Amino acid sequence: MALGLKAAVAEVARTMHRDGLVVGSAGNVSARAEGESTMHITPTRVPYADLQAEHVVTVTFAGDPIEGEGLPSSESLMHGAIYAARPDVQAVVHAHPVHASAMAVRRESIPAFVDEQVVYLGGEVAVSSYAPAASKDLAERAVAALGERRAVLLANHGTLTVGRDPVDALEMTRLTERLAHIWLLASSRPGAQRLPRDLVDAEIELYRMMQSEGGV
Ligand SMILES: [Zn+2]
Repeated sequence: MALGLKAAVAEVARTMHRDGLVVGSAGNVSARAEGESTMHITPTRVPYADLQAEHVVTVTFAGDPIEGEGLPSSESLMHGAIYAARPDVQAVVHAHPVHASAMAVRRESIPAFVDEQVVYLGGEVAVSSYAPAASKDLAERAVAALGERRAVLLANHGTLTVGRDPVDALEMTRLTERLAHIWLLASSRPGAQRLPRDLVDAEIELYRMMQSEGGV
């Protein structure tokens, strides 16, 4: 089971790299492990193109090593903080997709403008206030800005998305990137419209219902 989960983490990291959502060994992928307060996470300094299950390391939510020879991702604290705050989350993907990162540099949230965004991600995609990469502050701010939703922008940095497994969390990264791309195009001229507030509120209720039933 652990090897299956580690293989899923490695495969999603390779896919994330192949699809241009990060370059080199930037970004990171993790899955909640069976032990209490532990997770499987991608190592630092291994090129994702070559990443295999045996490179994935098991650490505590505080980043202390449990199993594996590699150095755990420098963003282990952020992943751990998300699992500690969100018992529903089974996997976390942190990436640097171009359009979503552009929104993060502008420190602008992606407003709710299509139905699938609200139903799958839980509403607008907020931006966490700035903190340096790998810091404890970044971990705390990411948790706060994510709230009950499934995607957040990290100011001047990238994205963080969550899901029921690594593939699902990566899908949420793709959706966030697509939404950012559409919004940047739509808002490049006057007249971009958001969804009506009362519709968004109703769809957030639907999102909550689906989450409480085991996720969308
Ligand atoms: Zn990063």
